[in-house]
Amino acid sequence: MYDGPIIDAHTHPMLTGDDQVAGDPHPPAAYLAIVAGSPISRAAALTIAPKADLARTTARNDAVLALAAGSAGFYYPVCSVHPADGQDALAELDRVAKAGCRWLKLHPNTQDFDVADPAVEAVVRHAAGLGIPVLFDAYAPWDADQPGKFVKLAIAVPAARLILAHAHGPSFPQLLVYEIIARYPWWPRRVWIDISATGSLLAGGPFAEQFCWVLRKVGTDRVLFGSDYPLDDPLAAAQNVAKLGFTDDELAAIMHDNAARLLAPDAP
Ligand SMILES: [Zn+2]
Repeated sequence: MYDGPIIDAHTHPMLTGDDQVAGDPHPPAAYLAIVAGSPISRAAALTIAPKADLARTTARNDAVLALAAGSAGFYYPVCSVHPADGQDALAELDRVAKAGCRWLKLHPNTQDFDVADPAVEAVVRHAAGLGIPVLFDAYAPWDADQPGKFVKLAIAVPAARLILAHAHGPSFPQLLVYEIIARYPWWPRRVWIDISATGSLLAGGPFAEQFCWVLRKVGTDRVLFGSDYPLDDPLAAAQNVAKLGFTDDELAAIMHDNAARLLAPDAP
């Protein structure tokens, strides 16, 4: 059983008082209490920018930047902008990049945008220019075409590093498209799959074997563990992912090494 260090690539710490996403408050201290003494050695601190409210966007980004700066390397900041904010979004991205933002978070459902909107490509292109990977929520039950929109986005901006959170949920077999396009010489394989929520959901059930098979087809060098805390318990999530059927070497990549590489300047 893999017992090395773990990077939790997807957590939502409650920081500004208007960003509670679960029934109980979930400040960073609550997460740290859960993972104390566990192999979880690093965690992404995500925020989600509102639309047309630059004061709140700035406050939320500053909160994750401050959390990361004060966490002795435990948290890394995943800031956010709203694509509909246009030039303001790009300017905020420049600002947080200078301040140490590691990844950018975009959420089509919560932020209510279409992945095919040209404004999204503009933000992704700008992030790519800054060397910042973009972590998208990538499960929208009401947008059946969304997986294909991510493929088009990745093809349109080949320099971007895209992380698709939740592996398209129950539509995870759609990820097989990445096995197919990887056969083409022009495909740079700069798409990663964050299995938060979905890994736990499927573990121990009849789809677990299929999920593991699909992720192997995509490449386990492109799969990231995340808990989606507070929506899932990080230690339970790690145990569930360990039950999906991967080898220890695959788990080392999924639980730690792939995320560590995505935290390096740019080494896909
Ligand atoms: Zn999430």
